[in-house]
Amino acid sequence: MRIGFGFDSHAFKPGVPLVIGGMKIEHTEGLAGHSDGDVLLHAITDALLGAVSAGDIGTFFPPSDPRWKGAASHIFLETALEEIATAGYRIANLDTVLVMMRPKIVPIAGELRESVANLLGVKPSQVGIKAKTPEGLNQDGVAVAYATVLLESLEEAEPLRSMSATTEEDVNAVVEILVADSRDTSALGRKVPPYDTDDLT
Ligand code: MG
Repeated sequence: MRIGFGFDSHAFKPGVPLVIGGMKIEHTEGLAGHSDGDVLLHAITDALLGAVSAGDIGTFFPPSDPRWKGAASHIFLETALEEIATAGYRIANLDTVLVMMRPKIVPIAGELRESVANLLGVKPSQVGIKAKTPEGLNQDGVAVAYATVLLESLEEAEPLRSMSATTEEDVNAVVEILVADSRDTSALGRKVPPYDTDDLT
């Protein structure tokens, strides 16, 4: 498994559409940025890239490149998904926090979750969307997003050893396997506790 973490922030700006999690949201202002300013997708993109040590969103899509002016941020996400697949991983789950004074995210959190899950090709149950207001942070004109992602290997987990037994000999062999990890004697035959209590301090 691999873990990734992402952060992003964009300032609110009048006269541009507000796009968060790939969704257009009714609001008086949008987010300023070279692309569509989708703060949530940018944080998720960075978490995915970070999880496979593939750099960050700026490595792949530098703001100096005119191709990404006004770009829809799902393009960035798709590149990050390709990177994790190439590295041999898929998304196990992700969790996110949005911090902004307005608009209120809670009423649309369900829709946001569906939108992000769709873009990532995962189930909504694999996506966490949480929202906070920036109490005491003096950043009411800013939208902030944090994302954590857990990846799992695309390789099949090693199959469990067969534990079927038909003869008495087989049964003994299976019991040997089952008790092998739970013996309470050391290699020298000394009685050892099931765990070392010193390690728990
Ligand atoms: Mg950004």
